[in-house]
Amino acid sequence: MKLSTLLMFLAGLAISIGLIYFGYRWFVKKNIRRNVIERTLAIVKPDAVRAHHTGKIIDKIEQENFTVIDLRKVQLDREQAEKFYEMHKDKKFFHQLVDYMTGGPVVVMILEKMNAIIDWRDLMGATDPAKAKEGSIRKLFGTDIGKNAVHGSDSPEAAHREIRFFFADRIKE
Ligand code: UDP
Ligand code: MG
Repeated sequence: MKLSTLLMFLAGLAISIGLIYFGYRWFVKKNIRRNVIERTLAIVKPDAVRAHHTGKIIDKIEQENFTVIDLRKVQLDREQAEKFYEMHKDKKFFHQLVDYMTGGPVVVMILEKMNAIIDWRDLMGATDPAKAKEGSIRKLFGTDIGKNAVHGSDSPEAAHREIRFFFADRIKE
């Protein structure tokens, strides 16, 4: 075997191992239950607010033992919505998402319980309501992958950023 072939093989192997390792770390980090009291940000999105589903959604949240620490109804402007979803700015659905999120008032909440971040994502259901599990909020109240009724932070870092975004006074630092 030529040396260059061997080196290419080894480089390919190293890249594959790296991808598997970092992919696994990312997956575990996103899906971990740390068994500590956490706070997360929940948003009842404009479609669900307009359809008068806010009360039913909060009822489900409280039935699952989350404590609503703070709650506000706000009308986002484009600048705020673009900032909030800045990680999606290169996605093809970005403009549609900003239109949707500024199309009417939203209800933003800080939720607290043990494992709040992953448990709220679980109660929300998958991004696409058609794929969300039975009984989840997106299954019950979502319309389509865009208009999916609710938002939830997807990691401790996101929860911290998103809570500060709406409730700066709640973040001590
Ligand atoms: N979204 C969309 N089309 C897509 C994917 C997402 O309109 O193909 C919207 C949808 O409202 C979603 C939001 O963009 O909730 C943020 O997308 P993300 O992938 O972060 O999903 P989530 O974390 O909300 O489940
Ligand atoms: Mg997300």
